[in-house]
Amino acid sequence: MVAGDAGKGALAGRRVIVTGASSGIGQATAQACAQAGARVACLARRAEELARVAGGVGGVAVTADVADERSARTGVEQAADALGGLDAVVNNAGAMVLATVADGRPSDWRRMLDVNVLGLLVVTQACLPHLRAADPGDVVNMSSMSGRRVPNAAAGVYAGTKHAVHAISEGLRRELAPDGIRVTVVAPGLVDTEFGAPGADPQAHERVRRLQADIGLAPADVARQVVHVLAQPAHVTVHEVALLPTAQG
Ligand code: NDP
Repeated sequence: MVAGDAGKGALAGRRVIVTGASSGIGQATAQACAQAGARVACLARRAEELARVAGGVGGVAVTADVADERSARTGVEQAADALGGLDAVVNNAGAMVLATVADGRPSDWRRMLDVNVLGLLVVTQACLPHLRAADPGDVVNMSSMSGRRVPNAAAGVYAGTKHAVHAISEGLRRELAPDGIRVTVVAPGLVDTEFGAPGADPQAHERVRRLQADIGLAPADVARQVVHVLAQPAHVTVHEVALLPTAQG
């Protein structure tokens, strides 16, 4: 099937798995994809929130942890079984703990790497057999403007994981183009969600939270871009979408 223009029905017939769909951008993406006609599998760890989101979009809830390889692979297979295959994966699950290297905790570095990098890789690998059978197949990786530049001294490790998302996506695009699978990076600036956990530098966390709330994009602003990407005709790949709040400059 070839996707048409963005809008109502633009994703009709497509089967989309969204990771990190229990809140924020992932929740909005699941909703936007469903509104555009896709059937959606929502994956995350918090079962109650997930059931609410999936129920609201007539989708499938898959409770899984992308940082646990077995759980991630089982989750993808549950989603594919429930939807009868997968046409697109939106790798949106993410973790952020802000601290300088001097103050940071190795357990927080490991968590960011496990979720933002290894989780994305394992989920993508598990989806590939299904995406190869799709026409077109799509991998959409949620990065950040922190994947292009490092916004402050406490953000180096988080930004490092998001820089990795850009590099991995570029390699994947080269790898998968012969199979007709498109790879897109979506890189938002500040978005008004509950994202991030206070770590060794709670002040840095608070500063970001205030900015997210004051000037951040709405999760739906990012979700619209994902639908736009998925709705392109098969011969068009959007490599990257970078979107910032106007006030972020
Ligand atoms: P949220 O905290 O609302 O969403 C994060 C999602 O990731 C949750 O649904 C959470 O679900 C899920 N998640 C975290 N760890 C795991 C895990 N181990 N396994 C499965 N799911 C997991 O924040 P956002 O919506 O803002 O974040 C979504 C993405 O957007 C992230 O990748 C983030 O880097 C990116 N982003 C956010 C920006 C912002 O300013 N908010 C700016 C730029 C990019 P659960 O806890 O239920 O597992």
